This record gives sequence, C-alpha cells and structure tokens, in this order.
Amino acid sequence: MTANTVSRRRFLHAALAGGAAGQGASQGSVVPETAGAFEEPAQKLELREDAEVIVCGAGPAGVSAAITAARAGAKVRLFEVHGCLGGVWTAGLLTYIFDFDKPGLTRELTRRLDERGARHNSNPARFVYEPEEMKILLEELCTEAGVTCQLHTRVAAAFREGGRLRTIVTESKAGRQAWRAPVFIDATGDGDLGSQAGCGWDIGQEKECPCQPMTLNALAVVRDVKALTPFMSFNGTDEFQGPGGHLACMEVFKAEIRRAGIEPSYGHPTLFPVREDLVMLMLNHEYGIKPWDAAKISEATMRGRAEIFSIMRALRRLGGPWQGLQIAATAEQIGVRDGRRIHGRYKMTREDLVQGARQDDAVARVTFGVDIHADSKETNQSKPINNGDFKMKPYDIPLRALIARDVDGLMMAGRCISGDFISHASYRVTGNSVAMGEAAGVIAALAATSGRLPHEVAWNEGLAKLKAMGQRV
Ligand SMILES: Cc1cc2nc3c(=O)[nH]c(=O)nc-3n(C[C@H](O)[C@H](O)[C@H](O)COP(=O)(O)OP(=O)(O)OC[C@H]3O[C@@H](n4cnc5c(N)ncnc54)[C@H](O)[C@@H]3O)c2cc1C
Repeated sequence: MTANTVSRRRFLHAALAGGAAGQGASQGSVVPETAGAFEEPAQKLELREDAEVIVCGAGPAGVSAAITAARAGAKVRLFEVHGCLGGVWTAGLLTYIFDFDKPGLTRELTRRLDERGARHNSNPARFVYEPEEMKILLEELCTEAGVTCQLHTRVAAAFREGGRLRTIVTESKAGRQAWRAPVFIDATGDGDLGSQAGCGWDIGQEKECPCQPMTLNALAVVRDVKALTPFMSFNGTDEFQGPGGHLACMEVFKAEIRRAGIEPSYGHPTLFPVREDLVMLMLNHEYGIKPWDAAKISEATMRGRAEIFSIMRALRRLGGPWQGLQIAATAEQIGVRDGRRIHGRYKMTREDLVQGARQDDAVARVTFGVDIHADSKETNQSKPINNGDFKMKPYDIPLRALIARDVDGLMMAGRCISGDFISHASYRVTGNSVAMGEAAGVIAALAATSGRLPHEVAWNEGLAKLKAMGQRV
C-alpha cells in the first residue's frame, strides 16, 4: 500500500465523518479496499412503474418495437442514448436500406418516406433515404402511437427477481432512475440489456473476436451528383449508377482516391447518392474493437473522422467532378457491425441459410445475403468483403430467436437477437430489424397486457393482432 493510498483513505474517512472536507461527502466517499478500486455506495433511486413495455435502444428495431407495442395497446417507454431516434439510420448516417420489401411496418415506412419525398428510387427492397427526414418521421410515428420517448438516456443496469427481469436503471442528466415493467425489449444493437440482465451471449467469430470492423459514415455536399456517376454505387434505379454495377464503381472510386494520394482503410470505398447535391461516404474500416470498449471506440471514431476529412480534401484537390466537395456531417455514432448476440430460445446458424430454413413461428423472411467485412488490414487487402463462400437461400427468422433463453420477461430485436456469426452477417440489415421490432413489439404488448410472459404468447396470436391493427395484410 502506498503512502498516497493511506493519506487518500484518511481523507475519505474524514470526509465521511463530516470533517474538514465533509461538505461534498454525501456521495461517492467510500474508502477503496484495494488500490485501483473504488466501491461505489448504494443509493436509493426513484422507481417508476408506469409502462407495460420498456424498449431499450431506438434504432430501426427499437422504434419499430415501440411503435407496434403502443399501437397494440401497451403503455410504452423508449430509452435512447443519442439525441434522436433511428440508430444507424440517423445517428449513424447510413442513408441506404436493404431487405425492406416485407409485409407490415416496412411498407408503411416506405409510403411515409415517399409522401415527404425522402426516398430516392422505386426499388421497394433497397433504396436511399434522407436521414434528417427519417429522424422527424420516426418522432412523428412514435408521438402518434403514444410512445413515451426519453432521449439522451443510457440503460446502465438491470435487475432480476429470480429468473425474471424486473427493473432497469438508466443514467442521464436526470441522474440514475429505476424503471419497472412486466416486459422489456433489448434493441440496443450491442445487447447491453441482455448482458446486464445476466444472459449468455456471443460476439464475432468467438468471444475475443475476430469481429466485423466499424465504419464512420459521412454526408458530403457536391456540385452535381451526376458528374460523379462513374464512382457511384447502390442507387437502385441505376439512375446515377456507373457502368458495371456497384463493385466496379467501388474499384473506380478507390482508384480515384489513390490518384489523390491516399490508400483508404476500407478496400471497397463507397459513394452513395442521396440527393442531386448530396452523397454519403463509406470510406473506413476500424478493426478489432468491441462496442463496449469506450477508449478504443473513441480512438476509432477520431481516426475515422480524420481519414474522411483527409480523403475529402485530397479529392477536392483533384478538381474536375470533385470541385466543391465538402463534408456536411459526420456520424454521431461510428457504425458497429458486430455486437453481443444474446442467447435466445432458438439460435440461427449458417445451416439455416444453407437449407433456406422455414419456421412455424417465422416473423420475417431474410433475402439479404451474407456480408462479412474484413476483420483485419491484411484480409482487407485481398478480400474487403466476402459472402461466406456458400450459396444461401432465403430463410426465416423465428420468434424464438427474439426471446431470451436465460432470463424471462426479456425479448430482443435487431442485431442483438440469437444467431451465429454467419447468420448475423445476413439478417442484421435494417429491413429485417424493422420486421423483428414489429414482432417483438406485438408479442411484448400481448404478454404484458394479459399477465403472460413473451414465450407464453404464440406467434399466430401476434400475427392475428397485427392484422386486426391493419399493420399486416
Ligand atoms: C457501417 C455499416 C453499414 C451498414 N450498411 C447497411 C446498409 O447499407 N443497409 C442496411 O439496411 N443495413 C446496413 N447495416 C446494418 C444495420 O445498420 C444494422 O445491423 C442495424 O442498424 C440494426 O438495427 P438495430 O436497431 O438493431 O441497431 P442500431 O441501429 O445500432 O440501434 C441501436 C440503438 O440503441 C442505442 N443504444 C445502444 N446502447 C444503448 C444503451 N445502453 N442505452 C440506450 N440506448 C442504447 C443506440 O444509440 C442506437 O440508437 C450497416 C451497418 C453498419 C455498421
């Protein structure tokens, strides 16, 4: 024990006893038992019990779950750590949607985006949307449905009674607050709630990774998007798409970045058209970072932002179609591809994709293929993306993969549902996340309003309810 520790202990004892430093001693003044450790004092929190369904995380899955549960008649609270709804759609500046051609809320979102001119091609399965319009649309839908949203609020802890999740604790500028509900949905993408509640989980190819890399997206203003056609991927209508499809466009774009003197960290740098004067840039890969490692994710975010700006400046120096290129916004949240996958009552596997598995409790059919980004700089050189080297068939996501195995009263939706590394690389895209959210929302509402647990509600009952609500035809 060092002298410093001793004198610090004496100081803290004095503080607790109301000594010279006693004024600030009401919280946190506990003597550490060992050097480098601090025992946080327990405190009594205000407990709110005004919701039947609590949804944690407001990405595509969480907002869909909250809207659906509220429409199904439950009182719903939605917690989100960022200052907007939408997750990777908005805070992540994604601008492109995959696997969206499904019955249910996906169709309604497509129509509502069309009504405000915020969707830019006619393909119902994959299209460009405007992220700021998405933000306000999701807020309107939650408000119309009666969801109580609390932004800037992180879910920090979870507590069980026996095997059942009963209470969560959030942190915000309002301090720590406790919330109790009959049913919870983990839509945090990273499986924060499931892990806090004590569920088993997997990540990446194994617990210590390799994991898929992270990517910081950005929006840039351009003079004329048509002038960038040869470099442009994923328009969907091919209106602005260069010849040879999106892979050829990525190669031409990469050659252009190299001509500007930079080697991008992502081997398939991608330019997405958003509007006539706006593009989205997906340029960087950050390897081996776990989403809960705050120090490493901070470094990755700052490295990603620096890379975006240096590529943008180098391209602008080339002149021609790059004249006037200017970053309009970088994402508030670096895009996380791999987070915790919470163990459910069914775990999807590669075999489901090989077989094209059909499930009696299918909540969605996945058509998007396996999309594995390189897990290291070395792999990125040879194969920036691979499809698992097998041919997948469209397959079903069963409701059981959305219901926690180890803890009752807890469902999952979106990236953090139960599956292996390969199946996750396919089902995680946002069309499936919306369909999962919708299913989790209706089942959670039926369970909570009838005194049952989610696994006691059959999917047919959920489907019938969605039809009665007019949300599925
Ligand atoms: C770089 C990148 C590119 C991609 N490209 C595409 C694409 O082109 N098309 C496509 O459809 N999909 C794409 N995907 C996949 C897709 O974005 C995700 O898999 C999808 O976002 C999953 O939705 P989600 O709601 O589960 O998670 P997220 O969108 O990650 O939402 C999770 C939400 O929970 C919040 N949250 C997290 N922890 C807490 C907490 N403790 N307390 C409170 N709130 C919390 C987050 O802030 C976030 O808003 C891409 C992903 C990445 C990373």
